[in-house]
Amino acid sequence: MTNVLVLVEHTQGELKNSTLELITAARAFGTVGAVVVGAPGTAEKLQSGLAAGGAETIYAAESEDAEKYVVTPSVDAVSGLAAQLQVPVVIAAGAAGNEIAGRVGARVASGVLYDQIEIHADRSATGSIFGGDFTVESTAGGASPVYTLRAGAVDPEPQAASGTIQPVELPAAGPTAVTVTSFSPAEKADRPELTEAKIVVSGGRGVAGPEGFRDVVEPLADVLGAAVGASRAAVDADYYPGKFQVGQTGKTVSPNLYLALGISGAIQHKAGMQTSKTIVAVNKDDEAGIFEIADFGVVGDLFKVAPQATEALKARG
Ligand SMILES: Cc1cc2nc3c(=O)[nH]c(=O)nc-3n(C[C@H](O)[C@H](O)[C@H](O)COP(=O)(O)OP(=O)(O)OC[C@H]3O[C@@H](n4cnc5c(N)ncnc54)[C@H](O)[C@@H]3O)c2cc1C
Repeated sequence: MTNVLVLVEHTQGELKNSTLELITAARAFGTVGAVVVGAPGTAEKLQSGLAAGGAETIYAAESEDAEKYVVTPSVDAVSGLAAQLQVPVVIAAGAAGNEIAGRVGARVASGVLYDQIEIHADRSATGSIFGGDFTVESTAGGASPVYTLRAGAVDPEPQAASGTIQPVELPAAGPTAVTVTSFSPAEKADRPELTEAKIVVSGGRGVAGPEGFRDVVEPLADVLGAAVGASRAAVDADYYPGKFQVGQTGKTVSPNLYLALGISGAIQHKAGMQTSKTIVAVNKDDEAGIFEIADFGVVGDLFKVAPQATEALKARG
């Protein structure tokens, strides 16, 4: 029996941590069924991780073509199962996840709630909006309400389940499906992926240049095993690449620890990091807005404070 469906996040058969967060959040509804969309054999590769995480049934929607099409195989698989089982659906928030959610919601004539931070058994969910200044409780209607969950909002709580694989047939792609004609994964960085990282060290305009990121922000991130983020001002000034931008028009992160170096705390920046569990800010202006949301603030020069922190952490080993 499946009470809720989760769309599994994986990179060519490697389970992403966000899937365990989705399973944990979805458990509010009861027994979890995990939907794997991918090439034949993908579900088997993911089986032990999904079972350990808490998936009772693993719906294997596999085909040689699945990875050739953008979004539509996931929409087909999830909406087909949701229509059959009439249960809620939980998907990772993000560009692809939100698109899949919207299409699934339309197909199963149910409501969609995007970018939620908590999901509740009564089918309501909690969202955090306007840079975390407001918390919104909403309910989605229909037989299969669809929720997308913000990465890092829920701590994974693995709970062993049987993880039985059940094959699901994927319909052939329609004539309007977008086909991927070539795919070359970006070089894998040594640092964790920004939206998945447990610790993020971000730099702002106060970092004063690309060398500030290289010599101050990155060393602190590396000693902490953290991802590096940047404010839009830092990105616009070409201090750091745009894919690392945190905020309203960048990535949304919710790590256990967010370190903001030389970031003023504009509402658009806060929108992307305010749900971090602990926020530490270093800023030389004691009136900087970032201190309003920081759990721990250091009023000082980041070029002195951050290297000292890096050295102290290194000394601890
Ligand atoms: C539609 C829209 C969307 C936007 N989207 C985003 C977004 O996604 N992400 C985002 O970040 N912004 C976004 N912005 C921009 C946002 O409004 C701010 O301009 C931006 O966040 C400022 O970046 P910052 O804090 O790095 O720079 P600043 O505001 O210039 O702040 C720099 C800070 O560094 C401190 N500082 C300087 N030197 C030092 C030092 N040596 N030691 C310690 N502290 C020092 C200063 O006191 C200051 O507080 C958006 C704006 C708009 C209008």
